[in-house]
Amino acid sequence: MAGVRSPFVVVMGHVDVGKTLLLDKIRGTSVAYREPGMITQHIGMSFVPWQAVEKFAGPLVDRLRLRGRIWIPGFLFIDTPGHAAFSNLRKRGGSVADLAILVVDITSGLEDQGVESLKLIQSRGVPFVIAANKLDRIYGWKSVENRPFLFAVEDQEWHAVATLEERIGKLIEELSKFGIEADRYDRVRDFSKQVPIVPTSAVTGEGIADLLLVLAGVSQRFIPKEKLQVGEGPARGVVMEVKEERGLGVVADAIIYDGRLRKGDTIVTAGLEGPKEAKVRMLIMPKPLEEMRDPEDRFMAVEEVKAAAGVRIVADGLEGVVAGAPLLAVWSLQDLPNARRLVGEEISEIKIESDREGVIVRADTFGTLESTVLFLRQQGVPVRKADVGPPTHKDVVEAVLSRRKNPAFGVILAFNVKIPPDVEKEATSSGIKIIRGEILYRIFDEYLKWSQEVRT
Ligand code: GDP
Ligand code: MG
Repeated sequence: MAGVRSPFVVVMGHVDVGKTLLLDKIRGTSVAYREPGMITQHIGMSFVPWQAVEKFAGPLVDRLRLRGRIWIPGFLFIDTPGHAAFSNLRKRGGSVADLAILVVDITSGLEDQGVESLKLIQSRGVPFVIAANKLDRIYGWKSVENRPFLFAVEDQEWHAVATLEERIGKLIEELSKFGIEADRYDRVRDFSKQVPIVPTSAVTGEGIADLLLVLAGVSQRFIPKEKLQVGEGPARGVVMEVKEERGLGVVADAIIYDGRLRKGDTIVTAGLEGPKEAKVRMLIMPKPLEEMRDPEDRFMAVEEVKAAAGVRIVADGLEGVVAGAPLLAVWSLQDLPNARRLVGEEISEIKIESDREGVIVRADTFGTLESTVLFLRQQGVPVRKADVGPPTHKDVVEAVLSRRKNPAFGVILAFNVKIPPDVEKEATSSGIKIIRGEILYRIFDEYLKWSQEVRT
């Protein structure tokens, strides 16, 4: 039997725009307005049931005539905002994320990492809405806690509204430079052409109702229905994080977007060398809120999880698994070779090993590697080799070979990885440039500048 799962929603944007606070506010809504026993807890994400949204946003639900028309069960907000988490939410040909919220500070516009967020979201083809946050900072704005924006805006002095409109106008203009048509959400005529802007305040809670309702509308119209359909077969998911946990060994936090994962299942994921099997010893979930008395004792072991779920997996064989790796459960040994083949194919699409001319790319996870390569391709920069982990001597050799065709290819672009001192030394003596950073577009800008220098 198939069912419909809640869409996964990610929050993205420049530092300090209010992503964390906005997520806190949304989570708070779901806790304050939930029915007892209704909230399933997850690792790495928060479930906000639609019933809680309806209670919280009641008058606005009626005003926008959404009552009775929403069939998604709720939202699953991914708890870690940011580029790396978004990149790791990868799956073949796209993203596990169904929707994104691009948060901007209404008083300062897109900003650097806002632009990068936008490009990342677009490169994975994820529908998005814009939260123009810090509405309460608009000069003269009168705030009422948790009031929907549509009601709040009707209750302001004209000059506050004028300032708001000026800010929104600027943002719309900025977005148009990136080929995006946007408008204040209540003025959007055609959601398939325009991106809705929802003014919010993560401090006062204003506009949060509007944001949740717009997300619901956009979910139902723009997420392909098949993507939200879940089956009952072996789990399919993605590894978000791998870490050492005291007393448990190596654990993986994963998002399961389809099927079921059971204790005892064999899973196929991937490390640097390719597909890797592990046997699930324990599945860990946070306790239901009602049962969470001792903050030290927040987790419980479960026998099985069903999509959609965020779960901590304790398994033998997770050493060396890399974030962004696919996860496939196998219920019968006969299916193992096929699962290994599928995972292997997926990984070999991310890693590049070729003798064509182009730059060398290194990144810390499968997700960030894929995003970096996607980004470079979109900018017209060919890639000769791409792999996970710190650069090696071999990379320097490859860069030297690539440079023969074009001096601008004598470079290693390293995203979020450390450069081993001996590799650094070798690169310097061979005249190979290493550009390292944590922000994609900065690496790219530095590369552009450098490549122009070596060409002339
Ligand atoms: P993040 O870096 O995007 O996660 O931003 P944070 O959520 O950590 O917020 C950064 C700062 O902006 C904090 O000091 C927040 O209190 C403040 N902030 C966030 N949202 C709002 C808002 O809506 N209004 C105002 N006035 N301040 C906000
Ligand atoms: Mg934050």
